[in-house]
Amino acid sequence: MRRRSLIVFIILCLLSIILAACELTGDANQRTDISDAETSAGSGADGLADGNDHVSDDMPSDPAQDSPPQPYTVEATLVAVGDIMVHNPQLTAAYSVTTATYSFDDNYVQVAPILKTGDWVIGNLETTLAGPQYRYSGYPVFNSPDELADALVNAGFNILGTANNHTFDKREDGVLRTLEQLRARNLVAVGTNASQEESEQIQIVTKQGIDMALLAYTYGTNGITVPENKLYLVNMIDEDRIQADIAKARELGADVITVLLHYGNEYDRLPSKYQKELARKVIGWGADVILGSHTHLVQPYEFVETADEQGIPRKGVVIYSLGNFISNQGPEHDLPLYTDVGVIFKLTIRKHYPEETIELGVVETIPTWVHKYRDQTKRHYRILPLEEVLSERDDKWLTEADYKKLDAYLQEMTRHLHSMAVPVSESSD
Ligand SMILES: [Zn+2]
Repeated sequence: MRRRSLIVFIILCLLSIILAACELTGDANQRTDISDAETSAGSGADGLADGNDHVSDDMPSDPAQDSPPQPYTVEATLVAVGDIMVHNPQLTAAYSVTTATYSFDDNYVQVAPILKTGDWVIGNLETTLAGPQYRYSGYPVFNSPDELADALVNAGFNILGTANNHTFDKREDGVLRTLEQLRARNLVAVGTNASQEESEQIQIVTKQGIDMALLAYTYGTNGITVPENKLYLVNMIDEDRIQADIAKARELGADVITVLLHYGNEYDRLPSKYQKELARKVIGWGADVILGSHTHLVQPYEFVETADEQGIPRKGVVIYSLGNFISNQGPEHDLPLYTDVGVIFKLTIRKHYPEETIELGVVETIPTWVHKYRDQTKRHYRILPLEEVLSERDDKWLTEADYKKLDAYLQEMTRHLHSMAVPVSESSD
């Protein structure tokens, strides 16, 4: 009899465990988790929690381990860049007449090692992958070969913002096929959705045990109307929607919320009043990181201190615009100075255990420049990290005049990028 009640008790325990597990999977209806086992360069600070995403507090305690848990910290790095564009001359440059194929890998060779230091590596895909049945094209209606996505994977990207003013260049077909192509390569696309159901899900990408929710919105789609019954295809900047999505991400347990905003005035070097106000609101609603893009010029970053709706102080970081990571733009085409300059924005994020609190760490900015040149056969594009290129000074395609110009660019971009940041405390020596 006693034995039987023990069996009943065990069965009840098992049932409650199964029920609890069901509740957890219920969450997954609203939350899309993307976590991978790959360990990356920017791993945990003390190595204690590497690869251990979930440490259960409910395990029966071993009497030998009853002493309070040792506090520890894990760390992961966000790396973000701005607009990834493919203008017509870049299509020609990427095409090989001999093999009749496209390759964009050359564009990213010098920056790939830097991108690969990130855990979350994010760019703004300012084009569509609508397929060869539509002609490949640059401005004003962008459609790029799928090989662009291959090159982005090879360069180290794992997350792409797809909500921008060119999202709808090839209408619904373009949005859906772009999503298909990115997902087929395990790239996480944020800002566009194949269905209403998808648009209601929050994407969470876990690195080193830190759950980051990613949200993306655009100010518009260049006047191309998204059908009224398919508004889910692209996320537009709508304050109520952003606020609700952030609240949902928090409910789903996100440690960090990163919001990509495609906004601002093209060719403005400084953020507008609107950009600054919206960034403050979004951080007040609960976002931690804002990655701006669209202006084609790098705008500064800033740590913002604001308050949530209950008046509790909140802090976040915003880079108002990451500029052009790659494009054919530049002063040689009568466009403003620095349209060929971008930035790799790096932010370390720490999670402290056992409290599971999050701390935004150090910001590092790495200005880049798009080098366009010709060899005997054709035109080439490559993104160069300025500081590295200037310290090595051994590039066979760069002249003394180039180095002089790039030196001036680096100095100006460094000043510019930090011009809105909170001054560093002078107490340390
Ligand atoms: Zn744009």
